[in-house]
Amino acid sequence: MDANCLFCKIGAKKIPAKLVLDEEEIFAFEDINPQAPTHILLCPRKHFASLHEASEEDAALLGKLQMAAAKIAKERGLLAGYRTVFNNGSGAGQSVFHLHLHLLGGRNFRWPPG
Ligand code: 5GP
Ligand code: ZN
Repeated sequence: MDANCLFCKIGAKKIPAKLVLDEEEIFAFEDINPQAPTHILLCPRKHFASLHEASEEDAALLGKLQMAAAKIAKERGLLAGYRTVFNNGSGAGQSVFHLHLHLLGGRNFRWPPG
């Protein structure tokens, strides 16, 4: 855990959030500023800032984030169209530097993204 990291603190329940998943390796919570009717952030408990800081040994962990997002999308009836997104680096809109997968659903999305 990184003592200065917002999402590490949320995962450790030191900062409140609406948790939707609380597992050994990953956790997920509702985004405080939702950009769609469903907007959930899925995080590994292991702290790393962005995707390019992950290593080969993290491959299964990254897969778990995607599989958990798909499960939530199914449970919430989002299969007509949902998005899973990693923003990596400030140029891509990343603002919290603990890797997190956005799960967005419940509305239509345009392509290409902004
Ligand atoms: P990023 O811009 O890094 O890809 O995504 C960060 C996300 O975290 C944003 O969508 C933002 O609304 C969300 N966020 C920032 N601070 C908090 C917080 O304290 N609690 C929750 N639940 N979400 C947060
Ligand atoms: Zn962290």
